[in-house]
Amino acid sequence: MKLILANPRGFCAGVYMAIDVVDQLLDICPDETIYVYHEIVHNRHVVDRFKSRGVRFIEELSEVPDGSLVVFSAHGVSPALRAEAAKRHLTAVDATCPLVTKVHNEAIRYAKAGYQILLVGHADHQEIIGTRGEAPDCTQVVECPEDIPGLMIKDPNKLVYLTQTTLSTDDANVIIAALKKAFPGLKEPPSEDICYATTNRQRAVRALAPKADLVLVVGSRNSSNSVRLTEISENMGTPARLVDDRSELRKEWFEGVGTVLVTAGASAPEDLVQELILELVQAYGGEVEQHDVYHEEVEFGLPGTLKELMRRRGIDPTGRRVVRKDADQAMGAWLDRHGVAHRTVDLTVSAAK
Ligand code: SF4
Repeated sequence: MKLILANPRGFCAGVYMAIDVVDQLLDICPDETIYVYHEIVHNRHVVDRFKSRGVRFIEELSEVPDGSLVVFSAHGVSPALRAEAAKRHLTAVDATCPLVTKVHNEAIRYAKAGYQILLVGHADHQEIIGTRGEAPDCTQVVECPEDIPGLMIKDPNKLVYLTQTTLSTDDANVIIAALKKAFPGLKEPPSEDICYATTNRQRAVRALAPKADLVLVVGSRNSSNSVRLTEISENMGTPARLVDDRSELRKEWFEGVGTVLVTAGASAPEDLVQELILELVQAYGGEVEQHDVYHEEVEFGLPGTLKELMRRRGIDPTGRRVVRKDADQAMGAWLDRHGVAHRTVDLTVSAAK
């Protein structure tokens, strides 16, 4: 069996940063319970690993004792939640991805300028709850074109759309086209809201899925961008399965399958991909090819709230950097260590943002 590994896959800059925030806090506050509001990133393994190190994940701030340390997850929170944390004298460390913050800032700016905001995304997703909270009175969530007739529009020329960062670009384009048709005066955000990591992982699947009989996406079911990768593959005619790890693989999926494409959502740890690949090689033999479609170089620094906390506790944040690994190199080293032959195919068409 031939195994193709999509690159880019797995952790994005925002996820590296958010995970590093909790790692650094465990390091600098060994005697305190660290509370994290919502899953730090949408991945079961990441959350379970932190739980085993004593981190408490909560869905209500009322679960955090007054004066304790709380981390806001990568998906962002509403200003109302920040205010509640301040009122309760919680020490809040903000691990919101800067690309989510960018959408929050757009919402604030347009609301101040008197616009109504049409927020394209999944109403129950943590990111949409947070962004909507920036301007709740003038924001309406649009999940699909069927929502458009029910929108309450005051002035169709004072209307802007923003989007969730992890949508399928195909789905978003359909909704945005329908919105533009309904409201020709609709304003666009100043720059694309769907983030570079979502876009690049989807582009890689679009480029590589036609070469495969089956696509395996490593990621959790509540990870929006992971689910979108399976949908994109299915839409292109290649069956896809979303798995949290190798234990979910089923023999019957591989009957008559010659080529498998493996990718991973932006919150899925690379060691899970490595173990899954090794399991497939051991079960079915075959070649491993890493197909590079885009190279990503985006990095985020530690958030200001964490640096501030470090200074308050007499720790110099200078020189503390978010740890980031190259998935391709790590996979190459892992395969070498297990004596698995592999090669890299460079399909890079342009440098990623
Ligand atoms: S998927 Fe995009 S928006 Fe979400 S954490 Fe990663 S880089 Fe940030």
